[in-house]
Amino acid sequence: MSEHDNGVAEYVARGEAMANAEAQRRSIMRTKKFDTIAVHGIYDMEAALANQGSIIEPGFMSSAQHFENSDHMEAALAYLMPAWVYSRIANPTVHYLEETLALLEGYDFDGDVSAVATSSGMAAVFMATNPFLEKPDPGMNIVVSARCYGGTFMLFGERYGAERGVDIRWVRNPLDLNEWADKIDGNTRLVYGETPSNPSLSVMDIEAVANIAHAAGLPLIIDSTVATPALTRPLSLGADVVVHSTTKSMTASGFAIGGAVIARHGITTDIGPAEMHDNFAMYVKLLPFRDHGPGLSPFNALMTINDLRTLRHRMDSMSSTTMQLAQYLEGHDHIDRVAYPGVESMPGHEIAARTMWLVDGADDYGTDVNRYGHLLSFEVKGGAESARKVFDAFEMIWRATDLGRIKSVATIPSISTHQQQGDEGRELAAVPPNLIRLNVGGEHPEDIIADLDRALSTLDRTSIVNPVRSDA
Ligand SMILES: *Cc1c(COP(=O)(O)O)cnc(C)c1O
Repeated sequence: MSEHDNGVAEYVARGEAMANAEAQRRSIMRTKKFDTIAVHGIYDMEAALANQGSIIEPGFMSSAQHFENSDHMEAALAYLMPAWVYSRIANPTVHYLEETLALLEGYDFDGDVSAVATSSGMAAVFMATNPFLEKPDPGMNIVVSARCYGGTFMLFGERYGAERGVDIRWVRNPLDLNEWADKIDGNTRLVYGETPSNPSLSVMDIEAVANIAHAAGLPLIIDSTVATPALTRPLSLGADVVVHSTTKSMTASGFAIGGAVIARHGITTDIGPAEMHDNFAMYVKLLPFRDHGPGLSPFNALMTINDLRTLRHRMDSMSSTTMQLAQYLEGHDHIDRVAYPGVESMPGHEIAARTMWLVDGADDYGTDVNRYGHLLSFEVKGGAESARKVFDAFEMIWRATDLGRIKSVATIPSISTHQQQGDEGRELAAVPPNLIRLNVGGEHPEDIIADLDRALSTLDRTSIVNPVRSDA
């Protein structure tokens, strides 16, 4: 027995008390409504009194934690007690965010949920999938929806596929359950989907695909960035792991890049150690995440914590505006097609109608209300040139590769987010060259429609003479 065993044991006991107090806070918050959780997270009066009374979560910008003595340090570094040690591994401010995210994504879910925050959405996609690709076998494959974010497409296709030789089995039509089932075999490591997808807004039946994955002993990972937990919570529909780019609607101000991996305890997989199955997010945080180093900056965590407080209100009003815009665009002569889960012409609309509800909507409306998010895409008649002409004529809607913003922003995915995929990749991901993706912001709907209307009118016969602006 080392002379330090007693000292370390005292810290372990202190650590248990700290963990119990936090579990208590968590269980109290689990009884609260979504908005209450979003506003407070687990930062309560007791936590505030330990932080000079600050009613707002403090930003801990320090790179490292000071220890009382070597016993304290030993217990903390051996992960025997709650500690944050060094900001790459953990940080108190980032922890407030992680706890809020786990509570929001686990709202209504009957089981334990943990979260790890990452430096970007791409880091989250990487951290959520890479642990399943350990000990490569020949023939090892992953079954993934081709209707996904451009960065995800490149991570899977180039980094995992071309560089490491993982067989990437793209599901071309995520609504086709047979396609998912047929692509899975004994060498499949994981099943991955994005719904609604960026930029094609394709939806998929999370529940049905989770059943298919689970029947094969595989985890289903869902990128739920576009829906946010205010509209859909994939864990309660059967998904094992949820990934987010918190950069988007969760941080609508546009002040921070960030991401998160949120998982239920007890995921379906036989890959990796028991700790990975029991608490995937915690396993990722303590081991692979520590070694890969994609930690979120505490400053960015604060920006996200701040915006998250109003997530439900924003998703409600911006979704309503987006529905109005979708209807306006569907009726417009210069538009071929509108992709928005809320329109009846959208394939899979009935799945969206079944699964996309404003959380606690009945509190405001007396009855549950469908809300479909604030991202839509539309195809302009006349091909790529017409789409560029409309895009170039926006006077308020920003031209930028961004979404989730409180400001309306548009992009042409084929020349931006999906530029590097080539014609074949764009065809696979359903990204035609005349597609404009529009993130609908918090402006008044009339003003957004006016900008769109004027930009689309540049395609009218009369304005061809003077295509840029009629008042020029
Ligand atoms: C933006 C985005 C990502 C990547 O997130 P970053 O924060 O930009 O790294 C992943 N998935 C979806 C659906 C996205 O929109």
